[in-house]
Amino acid sequence: MVINLMKFRTKVLFGIMIITIISLITASIFSWKIMNENNVNILNYGSIYYERTMRRDILCLMMAYPEYILDVKKSENGNVFIVMKSGKQILYDDGREKSYNERIHNGDLQDMLEEIYPLWYTDSIMDKNNDPGRVRVYSLLEEVYGSSKEQVVSNLENVYAGGRAIPFNNNNKAAQSLKKALQEIYELTRERGEIYSYVFPINGSFNYRVIAGTNLLSPHSFGIAIDLKSDNRDYWKWATKEQGQERLDSYPREVVKIFEENNFIWGGKWSYFDILHFEYRPEIIIKSKYFVENHEMIEPWYYGFPEDEEVLRYINLIENAIN
Ligand SMILES: [Zn+2]
Repeated sequence: MVINLMKFRTKVLFGIMIITIISLITASIFSWKIMNENNVNILNYGSIYYERTMRRDILCLMMAYPEYILDVKKSENGNVFIVMKSGKQILYDDGREKSYNERIHNGDLQDMLEEIYPLWYTDSIMDKNNDPGRVRVYSLLEEVYGSSKEQVVSNLENVYAGGRAIPFNNNNKAAQSLKKALQEIYELTRERGEIYSYVFPINGSFNYRVIAGTNLLSPHSFGIAIDLKSDNRDYWKWATKEQGQERLDSYPREVVKIFEENNFIWGGKWSYFDILHFEYRPEIIIKSKYFVENHEMIEPWYYGFPEDEEVLRYINLIENAIN
């Protein structure tokens, strides 16, 4: 009996050893295969995703600011920069892990583009700290729209709608895009009269000021944001989340869609909701429009982007700079 039990234990142990060895061999073969297929070490998988995202982000930026971003540069220590028309270089990623507040106050291009703005219908106020587009890179905005009040003012043009003049930045097609959006909305109100009262009277556009409670310039300071007709449930500081939700439920999404199609993001898709606020941010809309899930698994890295002459030129610049 004792002998049999020992034999049985030996057999079990032997069996476990065999299974372990077979598992180890299978795992090695499997990871070797993945490494070969992707031509990379499996440990660098995260970095492939990062490298791809960086190229795609820079392409979005070049498409969004075609007259202002002229080139891409990689420094000897591996930092990647976009090169502006003025010659100024803006760093893509400072490599620092940041809290939500740090991203808002000191975000870089990578932070700005990290969160995907939902181009689809959203039926509720976003969860806490989900605020796509709320991170802004001020050095970029200053380069494109003006780096002082005087400079911004000199770039303003009046767009006329609802019986009043709306000053908006003329650079990078901002005023032109606002004009087109408001025209489309005006046409919509001819069929859907009730929409008019959600848009007009327009509450404001250019206003050189800091965001309440911060030392950050509001996007209104650059003449790239417009507040439509105001309601006291529109802003997270004025209203509870429930009141904001109520307002969101009633808000005509046709208006939102028209603005988004013209490269504006909507503050109704932020946890720090700002429902009357629309902001011209072509890089955020372009990133969402051409975003591909698991893009790091697909060749070429610019999969999903339109391959017209301009875009191919940017792709070349990016490939030459980052290899
Ligand atoms: Zn606003």
